Amino acid sequence: MKRAVILMNRSAHWWQWVRHFGDFVTIPLAILTFAGLAGLSRLYLVVVGLLAWTLVEYLMHRFVFHHFPLARHLHQLHHDHPADPDSERSSLSTPLVVAPFALLSLGIAGVEDGSAILAGLLAGYLIFIAVHHAVHRWPVNPRSPLYSIKLRHLVHHHLEDCNFGVTTGFWDVICRSSAGAVAKRRLRSRRSLAGRRRRPRTSYEPAGSHRQGEERTAPPAC
Ligand SMILES: [Zn+2]
Ligand SMILES: [Zn+2]
Repeated sequence: MKRAVILMNRSAHWWQWVRHFGDFVTIPLAILTFAGLAGLSRLYLVVVGLLAWTLVEYLMHRFVFHHFPLARHLHQLHHDHPADPDSERSSLSTPLVVAPFALLSLGIAGVEDGSAILAGLLAGYLIFIAVHHAVHRWPVNPRSPLYSIKLRHLVHHHLEDCNFGVTTGFWDVICRSSAGAVAKRRLRSRRSLAGRRRRPRTSYEPAGSHRQGEERTAPPAC
């Protein structure tokens, strides 16, 4: 009986390790496999895939994980419990996420070019999960380049409507969803609301032309 309990505990511990760290074994192996299929001459396409990942990461986080109901529910667990690795992601579900990208890359660009792009996308994903793991679990020195990434991501956890890029803040700047851009937009909106409240209503202005307390924020670019 005692032996059975020990075996069950070991098995649970093993599966927990696989869920949390399996990607750090399987993804590098997949990158090597697809990069091998592509060959050295297609290294530039690996870089294209890597850069494309930063946009995929931004769009998925902003529009899928913060708006699509099921994904939002799962992602909210991570926002609510950032220190819990079980609420972050599971390596067991990675094949489901990777499969559509593999089908698209290989289907559109062919086996060799598609493998190069896929290797780049997977390299981007590997960097993303490593950086995300580090910002939540490692003590980061303020002089480290990871420090600004950690601060940016913690602001996202706190405010939730800005700083969607984890590995890079580039797309947040382009799409005006950085914390600074969102704060400026809110400030402008509050000022214009305060201005409208101070301004006396003219006789030709309809009474319901704006609701009191309504904040109108210009939609972000992306
Ligand atoms: Zn996070
Ligand atoms: Zn989020």
